[in-house]
Amino acid sequence: MDKFLEKRKLMIEVIKNYGVKDKNVLNAMLKIPRHLFIPKQLKNEAYEDYPLHIGHNQTISQPYTIAFMIEALELKKGDKVLEIGTGSGYSASLISYITKTEVYTTEIISSLALKAEENLERAKIKNVIVIYADGTLGLKKYAPFDKILLNAACPDFPEPLIDQLKDKGIILAPIGGIFGQDMIKARKIGKRLERKNLGSFIFVPLVGQFGWK
Ligand code: SAH
Repeated sequence: MDKFLEKRKLMIEVIKNYGVKDKNVLNAMLKIPRHLFIPKQLKNEAYEDYPLHIGHNQTISQPYTIAFMIEALELKKGDKVLEIGTGSGYSASLISYITKTEVYTTEIISSLALKAEENLERAKIKNVIVIYADGTLGLKKYAPFDKILLNAACPDFPEPLIDQLKDKGIILAPIGGIFGQDMIKARKIGKRLERKNLGSFIFVPLVGQFGWK
């Protein structure tokens, strides 16, 4: 018996009330044990709707923000997804639950990448591939991608990621200054990006070559 199931159900109600409708996203959040991705001492707060510290000055976003972003990706079974900023590995596991195929996720802090791998193993998630690398450069070896997701605040979409996105693919990122960003969803049409602003958020900064350094 999963004693966290009731808490997960309540979390889903909160997220629904905020306006998330995608049944695949809600179902993935009901199934994936978020508490296995949270440091032990915070386990009881795993299903509260606020961000939690995961070490190295990084946070796992609040459940609603993660649901909102994954819904915006319009995921379909078989989509090849690249994620920048693995953190705990939680959002990548939700994505893989929906796409039912490999998710490529990059993390620039090696100990977080290792921890994420441990978390994924504990949660028995097999199709998330964690790569310790500067994600702003993308992953040429596995490109092109149907969807690309950035989990940290960036000055703009990193150039290499736009190149590695398929035509009609979607890229999503919080773009703006260090202290506040707009969530920008863009669809690649030929060489152009069609951008849409989804609202204000606050994320930890993206570092690396095309980040804030
Ligand atoms: N959604 C994640 C949380 C991500 S927090 C979760 O479910 O846990 C953002 C992460 O982005 C941090 O772990 C940070 O180290 C990482 N990050 C920042 N810049 C990066 C870069 N250039 N490449 C890869 N990861 C980066």
